[in-house]
Amino acid sequence: MARAEHYRVTVTKDYLVFASAHFITFAGHRCEGLHGHNYRASVTVEGALNQEAWFVFDFVELKRIMKRLCDEIDHLVLLPTRSDRVGVTENGETVAVSVDGKPRYVFPRKDCALLPIPNTTVEMLAQMLTERLHAELSAQGAKGLTAIEMEVEENFGQSAVYRVALR
Ligand SMILES: [Zn+2]
Repeated sequence: MARAEHYRVTVTKDYLVFASAHFITFAGHRCEGLHGHNYRASVTVEGALNQEAWFVFDFVELKRIMKRLCDEIDHLVLLPTRSDRVGVTENGETVAVSVDGKPRYVFPRKDCALLPIPNTTVEMLAQMLTERLHAELSAQGAKGLTAIEMEVEENFGQSAVYRVALR
């Protein structure tokens, strides 16, 4: 009988965190004030077994990549560069942020992470981290991966999951 076998590996660690500031816009004209979260990421990678190593992907490497991706946005103000409502303009060493055309904040450039997403919701952060991870895994020659699932938690019991089926 033919059998379909699936394996998945999951990494969820206390150090896969990023303490960052953000604000999100809602439908209509509502917009949050600036505030922060201790975000936490966990990821599941699905795929075929590596026939030489008998694993889907090396845990050590997966943890290393995820730690780096979290560190890149840790202790920064997360700003969306693809928002229709939030304007983000770099002026030398500062970043000017407007909402609905009105000036809102000016931050030091070094304290900001400009992210290619339309809103800094946990859904979009999960999607962005997945894209980044996928690019890293591809660059490292990972083969046979069939899906990546990323969960980003912004509070205890409050998280979003993004899942992408590959190929
Ligand atoms: Zn928030």
